Amino acid sequence: MRFASLGSGSKGNATLISQGETTLLIDCGFSARETEKRLQRIEFDASKLTAILVTHEHGDHINGVRVLARKYQIPVYATAGTASYLAADVASLVTEISSHDVFTINDIEVHPFPVPHDAREPSQFVFHDGKHKVGLLTDVGISTPIIEQALSACDALLLEANHDMEMLDNSDYHDHLKYRVSSRLGHLNNVQSAKILEKIDTSKLQHIIAMHLSEKNNSPNIVSPLFAQALNCDQSWIGIAEQETGFSWRETI
Ligand SMILES: [Zn+2]
Ligand SMILES: [Zn+2]
Repeated sequence: MRFASLGSGSKGNATLISQGETTLLIDCGFSARETEKRLQRIEFDASKLTAILVTHEHGDHINGVRVLARKYQIPVYATAGTASYLAADVASLVTEISSHDVFTINDIEVHPFPVPHDAREPSQFVFHDGKHKVGLLTDVGISTPIIEQALSACDALLLEANHDMEMLDNSDYHDHLKYRVSSRLGHLNNVQSAKILEKIDTSKLQHIIAMHLSEKNNSPNIVSPLFAQALNCDQSWIGIAEQETGFSWRETI
């Protein structure tokens, strides 16, 4: 499987998972125009998207979905709770999914799983192509047994490392925002994410990429050593998905 990111963080998220002729766009937090621009950067044409999967209704994940889906008539997959935030004029393109049931889109088998986050019915995904497994987890306040089971034995893992606790504490955020971000329904801090890596089976891992880093309250210089320590690997091996540039195509082999 191939995968790439058009950008990751609170200003917008969009991830591509591709196998054969099937390419899924997971979330579209950028405007349709910006998404087309960013797709060009990784030499992919929006008209070739097979489907859009939406994890939850927060703007940094859903903002561009409506216009992009309508323009290219792309099917959209989301839980009923998330789909209820999509405008009526895309309803004919929407397939409602259960966050507990596996479904297949052409060459890719999608395993959704529910996550604790302050959204209506948030869900994250693991992708199989019969040979490899790619896991995606962002926008989640705490880990759960379901999450750890889902992410075990992945060949590639795209894992949120949202904030450094101390930086968030010392930030100029209002107390309610500090609480929101760090709560059980907020985002994973670096230590929580590293703990997930320590707990799950990472024996097959070919790619690890830290996602959804806070631009104010985190830094790759903090995340990389923590992840490297958890995985007992070299820091240079830890990938970082940037807000502006995401990351270009990578492949499981
Ligand atoms: Zn987000
Ligand atoms: Zn969110």
